[in-house]
Amino acid sequence: MVTMTTAEKDLNKDPKQIKIEHENHKLEKRLCRQVGQAIVDYNMIEEGDKIMVCMSGGKDSYAMLDILLMMQKRAPISFELIAVNLDQKQPGFPADVLPKYLAQVGVKFRIETQDTYSIVKDKIAEGKTMCSLCSRLRRGILYRVAGELGCNKIALGHHRDDILQTFFLNMFFGGKLKAMPPKLVSDGGDHMVIRPLAYVAEKDLERWSKVRQFPIIPCTLCGSQDGLQRQVVGEMLREWEKKFPGRIENMFAAMQNVVPSHLMDHTKFDFKSLVTTGVASEDGDKAFDHEEFPMASLPGMQVVSL
Ligand code: SF4
Repeated sequence: MVTMTTAEKDLNKDPKQIKIEHENHKLEKRLCRQVGQAIVDYNMIEEGDKIMVCMSGGKDSYAMLDILLMMQKRAPISFELIAVNLDQKQPGFPADVLPKYLAQVGVKFRIETQDTYSIVKDKIAEGKTMCSLCSRLRRGILYRVAGELGCNKIALGHHRDDILQTFFLNMFFGGKLKAMPPKLVSDGGDHMVIRPLAYVAEKDLERWSKVRQFPIIPCTLCGSQDGLQRQVVGEMLREWEKKFPGRIENMFAAMQNVVPSHLMDHTKFDFKSLVTTGVASEDGDKAFDHEEFPMASLPGMQVVSL
């Protein structure tokens, strides 16, 4: 039997198809690299971890599970993944989609059915947003399930753009410089919550979802409007990205490069005890200088006089 090499097989392929496959391969490598980097930077996954992967049926949770399964095969450490979906009994929720997919990919899973939809509808007046109560109920159920499954970690599918949106929402409406942590201890103190997609751009997840043809479940089944401000901020960020390529990356880098001495939170920096040292410091503030912003790295930004 004559076997063909990859190069010979490629010769028989449509050049367009080769290009698509090449791009998809690059995307897969980028996704794995970024998730791997976030895991290392924040020590998200350790030997022996049992991780509950929260599946909503949206593109982000499918991609998270998909990437974690790939990484599980390649990782030098061993950890367990259990996919969990909470069926909240929203009208029209296609209950068979996730179990079918999860069985097909061969991951352990649990579908937890709890009619939080009726509770929320009953408690919240018509026309008011239901998200706050709904997500509180969901959180409690997911923590309970994690305990029952013996999972020490809970993975959520929030990505880089969710983190940035939250940062702006907190600043615009909450008066806080605060985003979404890549890793945190659950409010009950019992579980570690991790966000392995913290470094991943939403547009890459959209593309990956198409490549892998995930059976997406629409996220509008409950009909709630709470996401409105988030959508507005999301749109603002997408506009900026279009007009000033690189701005999203710069803002995201800024969140990992915080200088408390140059902000105004006196609980984070001891301004009161600040004393002169008489010694020149390279990192010292050039208080009377004009700050230079390299135009190449901040396209479209104006240099402002300070
Ligand atoms: S969008 Fe719907 S399902 Fe999501 S938190 Fe709000 S009420 Fe709950």
